[in-house]
Amino acid sequence: MISTSTVALNNGVQMPQIGFGVFQIPPGQKTCDAVRTALQLGFRAVDTATAYGNEESVGRAIKDSGIDPEEVFVTTKLWIPDHGYDNTLRAFEESRKKLGLDKLDLYLIHWPAKADFSETWRALERLYKEGRIRAIGVSNFLSHHLETLLETAEVTPAVNQIEFHPFNVQPELLEFCRNHKIQVEAWSPLVRGQFFDHPLIAGIAEQHGRSPAQVLIRWDLQHEVVTIPRSTREAHIRENCEVFDFELSAEDMTRLDALDEGRRIGPDPDTFVG
Ligand code: NDP
Repeated sequence: MISTSTVALNNGVQMPQIGFGVFQIPPGQKTCDAVRTALQLGFRAVDTATAYGNEESVGRAIKDSGIDPEEVFVTTKLWIPDHGYDNTLRAFEESRKKLGLDKLDLYLIHWPAKADFSETWRALERLYKEGRIRAIGVSNFLSHHLETLLETAEVTPAVNQIEFHPFNVQPELLEFCRNHKIQVEAWSPLVRGQFFDHPLIAGIAEQHGRSPAQVLIRWDLQHEVVTIPRSTREAHIRENCEVFDFELSAEDMTRLDALDEGRRIGPDPDTFVG
């Protein structure tokens, strides 16, 4: 099943609601195989980053897949030491070449990293205005980071990719992003598999005859959050894109929302510096 469902970003660009994450998949054959499988099974978006070290393998997999590269929405991210105007322009060019693309779909500042990100953002704006990137955004930005960015930004970020799952909902940040038309995108949407046996998640999965992973992905989609589950197993990859033929009830959603305890499995954006 090809998952063609998309959301319109604040500049009109269409972004697939579900993409394939490749964090911690080793570069080379592993990444090539996983991305090729994901594309064959229906994914039409891939989320990588300079820091993952596998941009080249993602690019190769897209090329070898036989799918028109124009149909695949590719995101990569600027790593922390590459902050700054000139560094950003150089880092972008390196990523673009590794991915083998003329034009990138989405480029994100990976972490705020206590940096002065205004110059970094200015470089992203230049690349965007020159037509080298279809949309620009950020990742791991809290409301106060976004407020600072918006003070000098000419272009509002199209996306904020954040740690988002029922245990870390950040409702105020979601509200802030919605009010500014910044699309929220969930990283670690499956909480890296740590809570598949949680009684509520497992129970809702059983009720729907689905897997816990599918329940967590559906929860993102019904929150209108773009989601990027990662897997290296064909059966899991298939399962993760078969999520458009069932729906969680309002009660399921409310019960899952109530799991929120502000629990992060990844770093705190206020202190993480790489
Ligand atoms: P996920 O929450 O996507 O979980 C991945 C884990 O879940 C893997 O161990 C995988 O194992 C397992 N899994 C996947 N599907 C299934 C399934 N259907 N059934 C059972 N187990 C399953 O983890 P990530 O941290 O990788 O997050 C997803 C993506 O988000 C990343 O790959 C990356 O692209 C992005 N990200 C961005 C960050 C940022 O700072 N911007 C930070 C972290 C992630 P298996 O391979 O065996 O299926």
